[in-house]
Amino acid sequence: MFEQEGHSIGNGMIRKGICGICNCFCGIELLVKDNRIIQVKGDRDHPLTKGFICPKGRAMPEIVHSKDRIRRPMKKNAQGNFEEVSWEEAFSIIIGKLEEIKSRFGPEKVAVHTGQAGVFMQFTSYAERFCQVYGTPNFSTAGSHCNTSKELANIVTVGSLPVPDYANSKCIVLWGYNPQYSAPAQMLYINEGRRKGAKLIVIDPKATKLAKRADIHLQIRPGTDGALALGFIHLIIKEKLYDPEFVNNWTIGFHELSKLVEDYTPEKVSEITEIPSDDIIEACYMFVENKPSNFSPGIALELQSNGFQTARAISILQTITGNIDLIGGARLNKPIPLSEVVLDRENFLDRKPIGSDKYPLFHKINGRAQANLFSDAILYGDPYPLKALIVIGSNPLLTWPNANKLRKALESIDFLVVMDTFMTETSKLADLIIPGVNYIERYEIWNGSIRYGEELMGLSPKIIDFPNGVTEWEFISKIARGLGYEKEFPWLKEEEAFDYRFQSLGVSFDYLLKMEHAYDYGPYKEKRYEEEGFNTPSKKAELYSSILEDLGIEPLPKYIEPAESPRNTKELARVYPLVLSTGARNLEYYHARFRNIESLRNFKKEFEPFVEISSETAKEEDIKDGERVIVESLRGRIELVAKVTSDLNPGTIYVPHGWDEANANVLTDNIDLDPVTGFPPDRSLLARIIKVNK
Ligand code: SF4
Repeated sequence: MFEQEGHSIGNGMIRKGICGICNCFCGIELLVKDNRIIQVKGDRDHPLTKGFICPKGRAMPEIVHSKDRIRRPMKKNAQGNFEEVSWEEAFSIIIGKLEEIKSRFGPEKVAVHTGQAGVFMQFTSYAERFCQVYGTPNFSTAGSHCNTSKELANIVTVGSLPVPDYANSKCIVLWGYNPQYSAPAQMLYINEGRRKGAKLIVIDPKATKLAKRADIHLQIRPGTDGALALGFIHLIIKEKLYDPEFVNNWTIGFHELSKLVEDYTPEKVSEITEIPSDDIIEACYMFVENKPSNFSPGIALELQSNGFQTARAISILQTITGNIDLIGGARLNKPIPLSEVVLDRENFLDRKPIGSDKYPLFHKINGRAQANLFSDAILYGDPYPLKALIVIGSNPLLTWPNANKLRKALESIDFLVVMDTFMTETSKLADLIIPGVNYIERYEIWNGSIRYGEELMGLSPKIIDFPNGVTEWEFISKIARGLGYEKEFPWLKEEEAFDYRFQSLGVSFDYLLKMEHAYDYGPYKEKRYEEEGFNTPSKKAELYSSILEDLGIEPLPKYIEPAESPRNTKELARVYPLVLSTGARNLEYYHARFRNIESLRNFKKEFEPFVEISSETAKEEDIKDGERVIVESLRGRIELVAKVTSDLNPGTIYVPHGWDEANANVLTDNIDLDPVTGFPPDRSLLARIIKVNK
C-alpha cells in the first residue's frame, strides 16, 4: 500500500501521474527510486478513473525499463546494418535530406505520420504545424484508420462526436465495441449504469464476454451494421417511436430519411444481417422504452466498406429518439479551449494532400492526408510520388492495410525515419532511427471528455528522465529550427510551448502541473443546442446532410453490402469462402505494442498468433484445435494456430493483429476503401483456411 503523493517510502518516493498508453488516461501512483519505477498502482483519488488500472498500466516498470529500449540514434550503413550515430549527426542527416527534397522535388514529397503510441494533444498539433511551415500537406495520423470516420459522420450530423454517459443511462448499446478490451476504464461507468438498472444490448459478430452478460446480444453478419441501423430507424418511424418534438424542432431531412428506410422491414434486415427479426424488434423496443439510452459505435463499424454511412445511421438513430446531448444519453462536450497551433489550412490549396481528391470530406474537415494511400504514392506515383516518410510513434507495417504492398513501398522510398521506443518491423526498414520517450518520461495533456464525457483536463507530469531519448516535441522542434523556422517555432523549451497552448485556457504550465488532479474547463451542460443550435450549417441535426450534398457525397446513410462478401463477390467467395475479421484489440497489448513485455505476453498464456474459427467451420474443414493452418486472402497468407470456438457463427474467422511473426495486415486491403473516408474494411474481407501440409 502506497502513501501520500511526494512522501517517501523506504528510499523511494510516491509520485502521482497519468497512464498514457491508451486514452482512458488512468490516474496512477508510482513508487520511484533513483529514477526507476519500482511499483505502480491505480490512484483512488483520481476523479475519473478512481484507482482503476489495467494489465498494460501495471506493466509500466517493465515497459519503461525494458532492456529492449532504443537508446541511441542509429543509421543504416551501406551493408544494411544499423550503426549508432551522435544526435548531431542524426539531426544533420534529417535536416540535410529535407532541404534537398524540398529544393529538388518539392516539399509535398515528404510525409509525416504520427501514431497513437503516447502521442496525444500536445505533440500532434506541433507536428502538423511543422508540415505547414515546411510546405507539405502530407501530414497524417492514426486517424487514417481509427475514430475519424465516426467523428466525421457525427460532425456532419450533430456537429461533433458525442460521448455516451453510461453511468446515468437506462439502456447502453455497445455496437461493434468491446470496452473491456479497448477502453477498460470505461467499464467502471458501464458497471455503475448496470448496477443502477441499465439494460445492456451488445451488437457484435462474436459472443464476447460482455455479449454473454448482455440482456440482448445481436450476433450480426460482419459488415451489415448499416442495414441493421436502417432497420431500427424503419421501425422507429413506422411505429412512431421517435421524439416528435425534437424531430420537428431540431432536425432537417426527416422526410427524405423516412423514404430511405421504407423498405428496411425487420424481415428484410433479418435476411441481410442474419439476426432473427424478433430479436431486432425486441432490441429496438428495449432502447426506445428505456430512456435515456446511448449508442457506442466502435472502431469495428468504421473498418467496413460502408463504415462512414453506418456511423451516420447510428448517429441519426440516437438523435431522432431524443437521446442526444443529455445526461444519460450521448453528451456533446466542448473541446478543451487550447490556443491554436495549426496554421490556416487554406494556405495549402495549391498543394493537396494525398487522398484529398478521393475523400473530399476527410480533407475538408480534418485537412490531413489519408495514409492508407501512401504505398500507392510511393510505388506508383499516384497521385504523386513520396520521397520521404517520417514516422513518429507508429508501426505502419503492422497496423496499416495491405502490408505486403506497404513493405515494398517502404523498402523503395528514398528516406525513411522512424522515431519509437522499441525496434519494430517498420523501424527495421528505416534509414534512420530516433529513440523516443514514454508517457511518464515527458509531459502531456490529457482529456477527460474523450472517454467519460466530463469537461476535465490536466497535465500529465514527467516522472522520470530518459536521457537517451527525445520527446516528440523536441524532435520536431529541433528539425524545424534547424531548417530555419525559428519564427514559427520560437519556443526554446517544451514548457514554453505548453504555456503557449494554455494561454487561451487562462492558466499556465506551472499552475496545471501543481494541480492535484483535474482542471474543470466545463462543466458539462446538457442541451446546449437549445441556446446555440447544433454545430452544423443549418444549426439543426442534419439527417439529410447539406455538407455531404455540397461535396457530391450521398447525403443519406445508404447501406451497401461489403466490397468483399459471399453475396457481393460470389466468384471470389468460391475461392475464399470465409468472412475474415481482424483488428480487434486485446486487453494486454496496444495494437502492435508490448509483445516483447513478458508479463503481458504471459497474461493469457497465448504465446503464438492464432485464428479463431467456429466449431462448425472447423469440422467442415477438418481442422482441430491447436493445429497449424494457413489463412489466405487475395493479398497474402500467414501461418497461425487454429483456436476452435463456439463464440463465432459458422463461416466467420477472427485473426488478431499486431504479431510480427504473423502480420494480419498481410491479408487486408488498401484498394476497396470506404468511399467517404478511405478507411480499410478490415472487419469483413474474404479469406480461406488451409491445413499446413495438406
Ligand atoms: S486502461 Fe490501461 S492502458 Fe489505458 S490508461 Fe488505463 S491503465 Fe493505461
